[in-house]
Amino acid sequence: MTKKIAVLPGDGIGQEIVAEAVKVIEALKTHGLDVEMEQGLVGGTAYDETGSPLPTETLKLTKESDAILLGAVGGYKWESLDIAVRPEKGLLGLRAELDLFANLRPAILYPQLANASSLKPKIVSGLDIMIVRELTGGIYFGEPRGVRILENGERQGYNTLVYKESEVKRIAEVAFDIARKRDSRVCSVDKANVLEVTEMWRDVVNELHEDNKDIELSHMYVDNAAMQLVRAPKQFDVMVTTNMFGDILSDCAAMLTGSIGMLPSASLNAKGQGMYEPIHGSAPDIAGQNIANPLATILSVAMMLRYSLDESAMADRIEKAVDKVLDQKLRTADIYSDGMKQVSTSEMGDAVVAAL
Ligand code: NAD
Repeated sequence: MTKKIAVLPGDGIGQEIVAEAVKVIEALKTHGLDVEMEQGLVGGTAYDETGSPLPTETLKLTKESDAILLGAVGGYKWESLDIAVRPEKGLLGLRAELDLFANLRPAILYPQLANASSLKPKIVSGLDIMIVRELTGGIYFGEPRGVRILENGERQGYNTLVYKESEVKRIAEVAFDIARKRDSRVCSVDKANVLEVTEMWRDVVNELHEDNKDIELSHMYVDNAAMQLVRAPKQFDVMVTTNMFGDILSDCAAMLTGSIGMLPSASLNAKGQGMYEPIHGSAPDIAGQNIANPLATILSVAMMLRYSLDESAMADRIEKAVDKVLDQKLRTADIYSDGMKQVSTSEMGDAVVAAL
């Protein structure tokens, strides 16, 4: 059956990089990929046209689709808008409406780009970590929250870190399933020595592991995990953790690779439906110049094929094509170094299509 992809370019470089990803999908269609694409508005562009960063038609389109390809949202133009209609609300609205609770953030270092990392090449070359972050619970959503005035007149800020067993179980299940398609190792990151909620997290992960004995499970406190990520990152295969710990650790892991324009991400719900997007933003400083790196978005398409459309072989093709263009020394400005050949956004997209 033909699968449907909602294509939401969004703002800034989102428009340019998604155009290149669409080229790649069109090329795969000529090789037998059975998908249809429909474009929708989101973010500031949607606000300008409809008065809402997440129009009803876009929400309807995404709910009817098997997967969503998103560029990025945001930009200087919309920064002074009321917070309720800012571009970022479009993105948060999609995550909440579709219950996208599992955020998958790979940190992969292509050997050709080992010099882009701030760490020594021998520590990071060949790096391939998948961070699975819980995305719709934990301290970012827990109640009560706020700032109150104490009896002595002093202000006190407070947030609540809460997880239900079912929330831990479903994110751990995702981590075990993903590990099974990789090196079969999961490291669950918590702060069980201090926080009862993450002590329970650890217990639930251990209980679920009873049914997943083919996966090697380890546990690590978050402070140690942060240290290990910069000391010896290649020890990890899949890391699974809470919303806030994952937010911080995934940015740290991403930067080990040194190239924001190369990293894709996925956010999945229980039905396997997912939203796929580069980890970077709309880069208003370079928008409209045809110089942005489209590879993170193209690699997001590969994740989409693997995790939502059950087309692993097509995903492999994209990843191999990206590897090939890097071997050909083609580089957009953000990953350019001496001796390489600098190309534009659209030239990079064309090169990937040719390499397919
Ligand atoms: P950013 O990721 O957009 O840009 C950071 C820096 O990286 C900039 O110098 C930019 O030019 C560069 N960069 C980013 N992507 C690149 C690419 N593909 N190729 C080459 N260079 C690239 O982050 P920011 O500047 O903090 O935010 C800009 C806007 O994006 C803000 O409005 C922010 O809210 C929004 N944002 C959106 C998302 C999202 O849509 N998921 C994520 C982060 C930020």
